[in-house]
Amino acid sequence: MPARLIRLFAIAAAVAVVGTNASVAAEQTLRACWTPTELAGKPGENVARKHTRTFDAPSDGWLLDPKVALPDIPLGAVRRVSLPPGKKLIALTFDLCEQPGEIAGYDGDIIDYLRRENVKATFFAGGKWMRSHEERTQQLMGDPLFEIGNHSEAHRNLRLLEGAKLKNEVVGPQRAYEAIRTRLSETQCAIDRPAAMQSVAPRITLFRFPYGACNPRALQEVRDQGLTAVQWDISTGDPAPEQSSAAIVRAMLRAKPGSIILNHANGRGYHTAAAIPIAIEKLRKMGFQFVTVSELLAAGQPEIAPECYDSRPGDTNRYDNIARRPKLPPQKQPGSFFQ
Ligand SMILES: [Zn+2]
Repeated sequence: MPARLIRLFAIAAAVAVVGTNASVAAEQTLRACWTPTELAGKPGENVARKHTRTFDAPSDGWLLDPKVALPDIPLGAVRRVSLPPGKKLIALTFDLCEQPGEIAGYDGDIIDYLRRENVKATFFAGGKWMRSHEERTQQLMGDPLFEIGNHSEAHRNLRLLEGAKLKNEVVGPQRAYEAIRTRLSETQCAIDRPAAMQSVAPRITLFRFPYGACNPRALQEVRDQGLTAVQWDISTGDPAPEQSSAAIVRAMLRAKPGSIILNHANGRGYHTAAAIPIAIEKLRKMGFQFVTVSELLAAGQPEIAPECYDSRPGDTNRYDNIARRPKLPPQKQPGSFFQ
């Protein structure tokens, strides 16, 4: 056989081996617990349903001990991470907010794209959102690309709460996550893949404040529950219906190494699904690599702000009057609601 043909066969054999290994590896992840059709987003699933209180009752059930070793950082919220020179890492984050009296959406277009393109991301999910989207939560927690953070129980302004009400907003999603993870671990598919199940984080370690609003009391409660408060340095303003996909792309392209980008995947990022593929392709061409927030934190030094804000200190204090309003105000300013 000519040497050139032998080389070709060798290459073909190597490709076949890699292909087989890749399919075995995919079969061993918890993604294999669902068919591609079951994983894919469904038409209309991104639309919130109003006037339903089915999931308003607080989370109950499991709760792991929050007394875990926290990074030794000052009380405050992480804005971004300072990285060693040459490391071009970014954390994409998507909030999954859900308020009482509604079932928020699941933006399958975004998540399907991230899976297709192998893009890592972190989802900050409300406890109520996880309970109203139990299977989607299991698919996200079982996917090695994704990390789940805590976005409070029912998206209340934590600056306005204290005592048991404040604590319940913080621990509700911990309970929801741990109960849903336990039910996933009891499925035959997960029992058949013990290594994959073990790699699913046993508890949530990251917290994001609704509306990007906090005070020292709320920050302390979050820390007492073993959670690191995480905000962002890039807010795309995607909850505003008039925020175009081009504007979202422009905001994302302002990212620097160590940036944390805020978007939404609960159907309230109206043009987010259109913007994400464009922005990610451009950021990749600029040499950026996407990691989860936990991976970003592990790669450098967090930059901590003593208070919570969107783009400048004090700008989320305006949400202090929302509890007194009977209905949500119309969205006028980009990024003005549902942070
Ligand atoms: Zn939110």
